Amino acid sequence: MTSAEAKKRITALRLQVAGHDELYYRKAKPVVSDFEYDKLKRELADLEKEFPQFVGKDSPTEKVGDDRLEGFVTYRHRQPMQSLDNTYSEEELREFHQRLVKLFEREDLAYVVEPKIDGLAVSVTYELGKLVRAVTRGNGVEGDDITVNARTIYSLPAELKSSKKYPVPEVIEIRGEIFMTLAEFQRINKEREEEGEALYANPRNLAAGTIKQLDPKEVAQRKMEIVLYGVGFCEPDFLAKSMGSTGSPPAGSAPAGTQTHFHELVKHWGLPTVERYFPAKGIDAVWKAVQELDNLRHSFAYGTDGAVVKLDDFRLQRDAGSTAKAPRWAIAYKFAAERAETKINAISVQVGRTGVLTPVAELEPVLLAGSTVSRATLHNKDEIARKDIRVGDFVLVEKAGEVIPAVVEVNLKRRTPACKPYEFPGKCPVCGTAVIQLEEEVAMRCPNVNCPAQVRRRLGHFVSKACLDIDGLGTAMIDELVDKGWVKELPDIFKLRREDLLTLGKSVEKSTDNLLAAIESSKRCELWRLIHGLGIPHVGVAAAKDLATHFRDIEKLADAKMEDFIANKATVISGIGETMAAAITGFFSESRNRKMVTALLAVGVAPLVPVKVAPTSSVFAGKTFVLTGTLPTLTRDEAAAKIEAAGGKVSGSVSKKTSYVLAGEEAGSKLDKAKELGVPIINEKDFRKMLGS
Ligand code: NAD
Repeated sequence: MTSAEAKKRITALRLQVAGHDELYYRKAKPVVSDFEYDKLKRELADLEKEFPQFVGKDSPTEKVGDDRLEGFVTYRHRQPMQSLDNTYSEEELREFHQRLVKLFEREDLAYVVEPKIDGLAVSVTYELGKLVRAVTRGNGVEGDDITVNARTIYSLPAELKSSKKYPVPEVIEIRGEIFMTLAEFQRINKEREEEGEALYANPRNLAAGTIKQLDPKEVAQRKMEIVLYGVGFCEPDFLAKSMGSTGSPPAGSAPAGTQTHFHELVKHWGLPTVERYFPAKGIDAVWKAVQELDNLRHSFAYGTDGAVVKLDDFRLQRDAGSTAKAPRWAIAYKFAAERAETKINAISVQVGRTGVLTPVAELEPVLLAGSTVSRATLHNKDEIARKDIRVGDFVLVEKAGEVIPAVVEVNLKRRTPACKPYEFPGKCPVCGTAVIQLEEEVAMRCPNVNCPAQVRRRLGHFVSKACLDIDGLGTAMIDELVDKGWVKELPDIFKLRREDLLTLGKSVEKSTDNLLAAIESSKRCELWRLIHGLGIPHVGVAAAKDLATHFRDIEKLADAKMEDFIANKATVISGIGETMAAAITGFFSESRNRKMVTALLAVGVAPLVPVKVAPTSSVFAGKTFVLTGTLPTLTRDEAAAKIEAAGGKVSGSVSKKTSYVLAGEEAGSKLDKAKELGVPIINEKDFRKMLGS
């Protein structure tokens, strides 16, 4: 390859990798598998090695993937959070060991082999044993402050258990991974399926997307978990302390100043730890442990995509040092995702509640990672076109994140002339209406709101637990009601007649009466349930609650204009951003949706309005606060809670509309912005005065 060709390829690869990084780290919606991504990155790294003249600071091979998002306060790690070098090959793993052997001039290096948890990296800080902060890895130097969301994780203790034998240091940054269990992932996807929404691809992306929700109430509804395995900053220096302890470690414990000992400490402090780790001396023992881990890992609570091999001794770690991006004393050996080849017999298209058409590959059943797979999601029209997937093709299927099978690529060698390019249906497979594609959306939609598939899904959602919660209306019953033509619109539910219901297949008097009673009492549901039940795109339970509290009247919400949500580029209702505001106003601008609200009220639906809480302090009423830096005594959550309790609001970013910036130590860019805009800056003392405490 000439230098000019290499330069061109390097530029192209950098763009590609940067694009995938954005989708993976910031949007939690990757479009290629990790394996494909790693292949691209490896090609880039190899070219950069061969042509070092093109290596620059801004190459993705030199940086830690950046997950920081707008709307979050950033926080500087006291000690940077690094990535890990990774490999899929045993040979490279052995080379890693050889480099260390050369450096330390000894063969018998002690390692610890740990599961590589496929979640998202987090650093939690405990001060005097109390949880004060949780921050994402960000760009390695500073990350997003997700403390409020992390506090919703039940297994993350607010306080560490300190004991004489295992004392907790004054300040410690502990590194770990936030994840979601397979069971929780499946629960959420089942709900999504019932609601006719697109499914999440794997637990890692769902966990990453969830922890970055701006509304902690939404986060709390999804059960997140955490596991801790590493140490960052520590004061007094944890390393010095453990190494300096002259006494031998407690019987049966690992020697102080080692990673194995740190695992023990973390456990004794009451934190969730990795299920298994393997001390291993020399590279042969490491390789054995890696294989053992591969056999065991499917029984772990979290998804794993590899094994992390670390030098056990903290002193040796320090001496080995690190590059800008990753330590030299550790490496991730990644397990290649299991794949299998099979044939696509057909492509079927499902219609969701909002009319979204989801294509699904109907496969010749094949065994993959321990289970038989006969269907795989094809995501959308573009995905099929991008991979040129055709009926009759032989394709490689992979369990992405070990869960939902996905089609990775077509085996073109086995393609026959009979395989014609797939044409996405121009008509809805259920009602035959011509499908449309909305601007800025990849999905194709059936625009017919009366499409039986949509009506069934909408109805299912409307009566579900998280909406009107009407008992006795299962899928089979809903199908019958729609098929009979008795229910075409949501309000029709309230017009069902006893004598009609009694003619249905299995209906008996008692269950019919119970159903009618449940329908009747649902008329007095809480307002948020009704709002959620309408099925406005993007409006989940938490948003529905915020809307109910703000508008207190379904018709007021239906008549609201964009400026009632977004004024001077700022949100008026906390938790309701621009996308949601556009979805709400768009929804009600369709006359049939507006009419549906009137019809619901006409049949007697009279939702209960939330009780109004009067602000207790007029000084705070209607004022917006932005918090930055570390306050002397209050955590950010505590300060935020005080502001909200007094009738004020907390926002993530400084604008002209900000009433006060409450700044502590190490305040960053928000403080500068406040100064620039002339927003009043107060400290904790001023704040306490305002509170009168
Ligand atoms: P990484 O995930 O390969 O390794 C580093 C991370 O591993 C650490 O930050 C830590 O959070 C985590 N980890 C899990 N268990 C650990 C343990 N026991 N000890 C130490 N660390 C542990 O590196 P990365 O930079 O976060 O991500 C790069 C990887 O992400 C790529 O290899 C790729 O697989 C994936 N990725 C995929 C896409 C895509 O489009 N599919 C895009 C970007 C990144």
